[in-house]
Amino acid sequence: MKKIAIYPGSFDPVTFGHLDIIKRALKIFDGLIVSVFVHSTKKPMFTLEERVSMLRSALKGNKRVKIDCFNGLLVDYIKKKKINTVVRGLRAISDLEYEFQVSAANRTLYSDIETVFFMPRQRYSYLSSSVVRDISYFGGDVSKMVPPCVVKRIKKKRPDTNRDVFSLP
Ligand code: ADP
Repeated sequence: MKKIAIYPGSFDPVTFGHLDIIKRALKIFDGLIVSVFVHSTKKPMFTLEERVSMLRSALKGNKRVKIDCFNGLLVDYIKKKKINTVVRGLRAISDLEYEFQVSAANRTLYSDIETVFFMPRQRYSYLSSSVVRDISYFGGDVSKMVPPCVVKRIKKKRPDTNRDVFSLP
């Protein structure tokens, strides 16, 4: 029987950190469903379609990875998929408390769920989608943090590169 897991996240946008976690998870699992969720509170930089499309380009050709999306509770989604293993990434210690809380809450809702954590390579330990969003907002170079398809998409999103936000009257 094939071992399949689900890797849920916002992926707003996908970074080399996420791709590193996917690569590691595929050493353990036969297949992975990378699933973009529609956040109830956060306003994303990229639409759901854009996030899915960037993941598709970044993972093109990898037959063991499927891209999907969902809204609502993760436990309802994984029950529907009949997959009870969830993959998450652990960066610095700061991730631990949040991830621990979420996986404990999920287990309270659905006792069969298992969460497996992977650590990225050190150089991605401080990389997050929000850092990428902040840097790209001000036109900074994020090519060492995200795959080329994301760099392209960010360039298209930024209409006014010469905006002088701090200019005083
Ligand atoms: P969230 O699900 O909190 O919105 P993300 O979509 O950014 O966060 O991330 C999904 C998962 O990937 C989370 O488990 C997060 O800790 C992990 N992750 C994000 N960036 C990295 C990284 N640079 N290295 C390792 N794991 C990461």
